[in-house]
Amino acid sequence: MSDASVARPEAEDGGARQVTVTLPDGATRTYPAGVTGADVAADISKSLAKAAIAAKHDGRLVDLTRPIERDVELALVTMRDKPEAEELVRHDLAHIMARAVQEIWPDVKVTIGPVIENGWYYDFDRKEPFSTEDLERIEAKMREIVALKDPVTTEVWDRDAAIRHYEETGEPYKIELVQAIPAGEPIRMYWHGWWQDLCRGPHLVHTGQAPADAFKLMSVAGAYWRGDSRNPMLQRIYGVAFRTKKELDDHLHMLEEAQRRDHRKIGREMSLFHMQEEAPGMVFWHPDGWTVYRALEAYMRRRLDAAGYREIRTPQVVDRKLWEASGHWEKYRENMFIAEVQEEHAQEKRVNALKPMNCPCHVQVYNHGLKSYRDLPLRLAEFGSCHRYESSGSMHGLMRVRGFTQDDAHIFCTEDQIEQECAGFIALLSSVYRDLGFASFDIKFSTRPEVRIGSDAIWDKAEAALEAAARAVTEDYEVDPGEGAFYGPKLDFKLTDAIGREWQCGTFQADFNLPERLGAEYVTESDERARPVMLHRAILGSFERFIGILIENYAGRFPLWLAPRQAVVATITSDADDYAREVTEALKAAGLRAEADVRNEKINYKVREHSVAHVPAILAVGRREMEEGTVAVRRLGAKGQETMSLEAAAKALAEEATPPDLKG
Ligand SMILES: [Zn+2]
Ligand SMILES: [Zn+2]
Repeated sequence: MSDASVARPEAEDGGARQVTVTLPDGATRTYPAGVTGADVAADISKSLAKAAIAAKHDGRLVDLTRPIERDVELALVTMRDKPEAEELVRHDLAHIMARAVQEIWPDVKVTIGPVIENGWYYDFDRKEPFSTEDLERIEAKMREIVALKDPVTTEVWDRDAAIRHYEETGEPYKIELVQAIPAGEPIRMYWHGWWQDLCRGPHLVHTGQAPADAFKLMSVAGAYWRGDSRNPMLQRIYGVAFRTKKELDDHLHMLEEAQRRDHRKIGREMSLFHMQEEAPGMVFWHPDGWTVYRALEAYMRRRLDAAGYREIRTPQVVDRKLWEASGHWEKYRENMFIAEVQEEHAQEKRVNALKPMNCPCHVQVYNHGLKSYRDLPLRLAEFGSCHRYESSGSMHGLMRVRGFTQDDAHIFCTEDQIEQECAGFIALLSSVYRDLGFASFDIKFSTRPEVRIGSDAIWDKAEAALEAAARAVTEDYEVDPGEGAFYGPKLDFKLTDAIGREWQCGTFQADFNLPERLGAEYVTESDERARPVMLHRAILGSFERFIGILIENYAGRFPLWLAPRQAVVATITSDADDYAREVTEALKAAGLRAEADVRNEKINYKVREHSVAHVPAILAVGRREMEEGTVAVRRLGAKGQETMSLEAAAKALAEEATPPDLKG
């Protein structure tokens, strides 16, 4: 045993009390109570003692120095345990950054500094704003603190002592935090070397376990204390951190790429769409952007037709009575756009809502005419225009909007048909994703929550059906216990894009509730009335967001079948103007979206301009091409050009521009 500082409570008979520690491989070891993870690591091997950064007691992440007072399952955490190590590294760096700031500017007040995705932030009260040079200075100081390998220690204090301490050190925000800790919860103090902070922990063993070359301070932003605008404005410094320099470099590269591929920037460069103040979160599609939209919509329509869906169209403005019946008025009211209208001869205004989702309208179509078991499964699809109120702060280009069009469909079926419908859906979804340039996707399976409707028998059946369908495509699906909707279990489908970002797009949800609420039924084989199950499903999610994802995934360089302008015929000399028009007509006749550029500009200027606009094929024509009946084809991103006959060029481009589902 190495750690003499740990108190070892003795058993009442005076002999040392023993605890049994069970390791992950099932092996057990016995130690005197009060033994720590550090002691056990040292007992196992020297290398483990060095590598251990924290411990898990019965699955709970704690300090390596936390005494073990009863029998536990013990796991020793090292840098190899990615999520735990990242959490610890980011958390410790938050403390180390705050210490660095106070070493440089002792009068700065500290507040809180939580771990966030990829890093952390810490809020400081300082009059002067932090500059870029300040961030560099803080980073350098942080590296000094890491190099010191200062031990991290912890103690539990009583409330009065903690408040006195922060009164003495002049940290008013910490006093507020201490006062807010509920009675009965420990007030835990941590030290990184001399520097102290209030914290729940856990932490690394010493500052040297934080990687000096795998973090970076990114930016400063204003933030109100406790997010309340009546409180003082603080300065929030954001940092990112990983376990290794390689992981940090990869992340920084991804951020650069994401910026280069930003769909709002590319949307401007290619004049695909714009948004403006008069319609926040709604898209004004320009001709080229709408061409992409139509190509994608036509593709989806063909795929749904082929998969046995029937397309419908339902109203956008619907009386609140239907939303009351569906439950949306009660649960979703603050997200709905309301349209009141004074009907002729009516006493009161009629209150309508713009539909935030299509489901209740689809049940109305289902309910028209008595359905029998022979009609099931009935797959009703709609490219449904929906509106949802989103706060202005949460909107982001095409990715988060208020007006959008879902590739929505609802399958009405019997309980026994869920599995086959789910399998059919996943097959369609994977084929669509492949066609749209995404080789793989992840599945998340969300199971029954505590509060739910429907019998356990039907949940058993539906969960088994969804899980079997998921397992048929991958063993590697993620399970999110208890995260299903109250009305049924669901599968979510996440794409990975060209720079490794994940996007949740597809969804498949079983619903036992809405058919009940809206009175959907069918006549069974034995001539009885029964409720169908309703399956909500989408592949793209919304056209708007999915086009945003496509723009970023392809960095604006769409495959030919989706490109708004597929070919531009550019003249080298004005002698070839008529020939250029002839070539353009031939390309159009072959089904291509082509146009002529006969401006009196140098060919290099034209090529540069069309390349910036991501036109996939530029066909240069001059006197020689005209005389020989050829074109010089330059492909976007490729060096050089290839001269071929007009006929061959038109044929090759038309073949390439054929949507994937129509290729032979
Ligand atoms: Zn902490
Ligand atoms: Zn739905």
